Amino acid sequence: MGMLIEGSQGHPIKERWNTVGVIKVAINGFGTIGKRVADAVDAQDDMEVVGVTKTGPSFGCDLAVKKGFPLYCTFDDEESISRFGMNGYECSGGLSDLLSVADVVVDCAPGKLGADNLSKYKSAGIKYMFQGGEKHSLTGLSYTSSANHVENLNAQGTRVVSCNTTGLSRTLVPLFEHCGSLKVECTMIRRAADPGDSNRGPINAIKPVLKVPSHHGPDVMTVKPEIEINSLAVAVPTTIMHVHSIIADLPPGHGLTTESVIELWSNTPRVIIMNGSEHRITTTAEVMEMARDIGRKWGDLHEIFVWEDGVKLVGDRLYYFQAIHQESDVIPENIDCIRALMGTESDWRKSVEMTDSAISRYYGL
Ligand code: NAD
Repeated sequence: MGMLIEGSQGHPIKERWNTVGVIKVAINGFGTIGKRVADAVDAQDDMEVVGVTKTGPSFGCDLAVKKGFPLYCTFDDEESISRFGMNGYECSGGLSDLLSVADVVVDCAPGKLGADNLSKYKSAGIKYMFQGGEKHSLTGLSYTSSANHVENLNAQGTRVVSCNTTGLSRTLVPLFEHCGSLKVECTMIRRAADPGDSNRGPINAIKPVLKVPSHHGPDVMTVKPEIEINSLAVAVPTTIMHVHSIIADLPPGHGLTTESVIELWSNTPRVIIMNGSEHRITTTAEVMEMARDIGRKWGDLHEIFVWEDGVKLVGDRLYYFQAIHQESDVIPENIDCIRALMGTESDWRKSVEMTDSAISRYYGL
C-alpha cells in the first residue's frame, strides 16, 4: 500500500510504507511499452516496480530516475553496468540482480528477443510475461483479459497478445459470448511507425502485407480459438493509430440488432463507442485529440474506439470500424495478466475494475 506524492516535473511517485504481500514486478526493457507498463504497475496497490532495465545510458533513464524506479542494466557484465555510472546514472546491477528480487518479469524488449531472454527467466525461476512481438509458440500460452484470464491463472509464463489482437478481442469476444459462434474477416490498416520511431516507413506509400492471411486474425485464436477469423493488413503513413475494418458473420438466431450490438459494446470494459458525426470525431486524429483531453500520460487511450455510426448489421453480417492506440491498449492487460500469473484475482472483470480505477486515481482523473 502507499500514497501518491508529486515527484519532479509533476510525475506521480508512489511512496510506500508497507510492501509485504505486494507483487514485485521487474520490467525488462524500458521503451515504448515498458515505461507505460511500469507506470501502470506503480499505479496499483497490490504490486510495485522493483526495477527497470536499460541497455545503456540514454535519455530514457531520466524517466526512471524521475519516477524513482531502480535502474538496472539489461546485461550482467561489469563493463555495461559501469557505463551508467560514467554517465551520471545510479545503476543497481545487471538483469540477474533484478530478477533475484522480483516475483514476475514483464519482458518489454523489442520483438524476437524472447527466446534469449526466456532462458534467463527460467534460470532465475521467475514468472514471466512477453509482449505481442513474440510468437505464441515461445510460451505456448497467450493472454487477453476478456478472453482467457482463467486459463492463465497461476501459469509460470505467458504472452500478452499484440495491440491489434487485443483490439480485436475486446469487441469480438463479447459478440462471440452472445452468439456462441462467429466467423470474421478483417483488414488491419496499420500505422507505419510509433511516433518516437525515426527509422521505419512507408512515408509516402501504402504497403500491403503480402503474407496472406496476416498473422493478426489467427493470433486472436491463441486466446479465443472458437472464433474463426482471418485478416489482411496494410501499413499506411501515419504514426498515431491502427484502424480495423471488420466483417463478422453471426450465426442464425443471434437475436442482435445494430442497436443491441452498440449497447453490448457500450457495456463492455475498455471499449469507447461514440457517434462520429454527432461528436465530430470522424478520424483517428480527433480520437487521439480526445485521448489527450482525457489526461492519461503520453496522451494514451487504453480503450478501443468504435464509431457508432460505422456499425451496421445487414442480415446476419455485421460491419464495423474500430481504432486502436497501438502504444497503450495492451498496458492495462499487462496488469491483469500479472494478477492472473500470480493467482491473486481469478475474476477478470474484478481485475479490470481494479486496474482501471487505480490508473484513473493515479493520474487524478
Ligand atoms: P521499444 O523499442 O520501444 O522498446 C524496447 C526497449 O527494450 C528499448 O528500451 C530497448 O533498448 C530495450 N532492449 C533492447 N534489447 C533488449 C534486451 N535484449 N533485453 C531487454 N531489453 C532490451 O519497443 P516496444 O515498442 O516497447 O516493443 C516492446 C514489445 O512490445 C515488442 O514485443 C512489441 O512487438 C510489443 N508491442 C509494441 C507495441 C507498440 O506499438 N510499440 C504495441 C504492442 C506490443
